Amino acid sequence: MSVSDAWTPTSWRSKPAAQDVVYPDREKLDKVLTKIRTLPPLVSPSEIERLRHHLTQVQGNRAFLLHAGDCAESFDACTHENISNKIGLILSFSLILIWGARMPVVRIGRIAGQYAKPRSSPTEKIGDREVMSFRGDNVNGLDPDDRTPDPDRMLSAYFHSTTTLNHVRSLLTSGFASLHHPKDWSLTHVRSPAVREEFERITEGLSDALEFSRTIGLARDGVSYEQGGGRGALGEVDFYTSHEGLMLEYEEAMTREFPVPSSLASYAADGTRTPPRKVHYNTSAHFLWIGDRTRQLDGAHVEYFRGIRNPIGVKVGPSMKADELVRMLDIVNPDREDGKVTLITRYGAGKVEDNLPGHIRAVQQSGHPVIWISDPMHGNTLTSTSGLKTRNFGTIISELTSCIRIHTECGSRLGGVSLEFTGELTEDGYSVTECLGGSMNLSEDQLPLRYQSFCDPRLNFEQSLDVAFLISDQYKK
Ligand code: PEP
Ligand code: MN
Repeated sequence: MSVSDAWTPTSWRSKPAAQDVVYPDREKLDKVLTKIRTLPPLVSPSEIERLRHHLTQVQGNRAFLLHAGDCAESFDACTHENISNKIGLILSFSLILIWGARMPVVRIGRIAGQYAKPRSSPTEKIGDREVMSFRGDNVNGLDPDDRTPDPDRMLSAYFHSTTTLNHVRSLLTSGFASLHHPKDWSLTHVRSPAVREEFERITEGLSDALEFSRTIGLARDGVSYEQGGGRGALGEVDFYTSHEGLMLEYEEAMTREFPVPSSLASYAADGTRTPPRKVHYNTSAHFLWIGDRTRQLDGAHVEYFRGIRNPIGVKVGPSMKADELVRMLDIVNPDREDGKVTLITRYGAGKVEDNLPGHIRAVQQSGHPVIWISDPMHGNTLTSTSGLKTRNFGTIISELTSCIRIHTECGSRLGGVSLEFTGELTEDGYSVTECLGGSMNLSEDQLPLRYQSFCDPRLNFEQSLDVAFLISDQYKK
């Protein structure tokens, strides 16, 4: 099967779609989709190509991939504070990695479009009522009385994504990422003196290094992909957006045909330039991924994903068979292009040993080029005694360090990490309390204090920096 083999932005419609949303008002849905089709792209083909290029560097062990953000964004959380705290945390995290691993970091946020959620059950019981599960702000409301899917929410998601992205672009082009202002990244509320001191030592070291480079004429301000010079995809630093490609009607409406950028134009043997090839870009985000619940080889999501030019992620859980993984790669990357596919493994700390080595070996034998990253969050969710969904810091670290070790043992390399974290603060300036443990030793009885997630539990600012220090220690050369 090749892309030309009857793929169109709508060919997914003839396949079964897992986690499908049924809209009672089809007419309104069509109207909304027609409108979205006319709205401008959120990201450009050249930005997407730039990310593909950076991902080939991750694949070649010359950069580290950080994929991080909320489990789900909400329309209400689309505020200046939340967006800047999120970007600040991603910048702080990547700075620690750059410093420790002496390697550039490619940053992809789960941001500006991460609204839809797959659910384990289509309905849930609230009180004595059975209602449709909450499917994310772009589908229905968290309020049990607002669970009917409303197509207008899709349009609202487009505009919330746009305003989020606009704010990210303006932050990154107006000095927010500058090393002269790392305090703007909201570190002030980190209460552990050890974490603060270690972070301040790093920013001072980096400031000195940049100052030196500037003095001898090598660098500009900011912490860019190149650690000091060059304008990134979203301004002075490289930053890319992503979301799970779950709502295929929306993804289809945001899929646009463009010629591949002229820098990628091909030349015939006699030196003449062949006519520019046209390809389809999903212009709603730089990077999209297929979730673990929607990765059926004959399903609608895989069909849609095989035709887009964007780099993509595939979630790989414990139920993935080794030969199924290879067949997936044959479908979504038939031409075996570098930087195209990132495998995001999420087995659970107790299952990684049984699953990862077989998956690595199968991919190695197939010869498919891939980037491997670890999502140590989604296989490690548990319910606390008080009934709150949580994750244990120790278990998260256990899956992550097992992944690093197993890759090394198999002659492979872990190229990055996918995390759910948040820089969000409560009104009184405290970090959220959703995951257990970390250097702040968050205990079960502290969980309800500032639990703000309406979806999966996220590492807070301090716990995230703990993870960054740990990874940077593991990769220290
Ligand atoms: C997610 O990344 O939020 C998610 C739902 O992941 P998975 O598909 O791996 O369960
Ligand atoms: Mn999640």
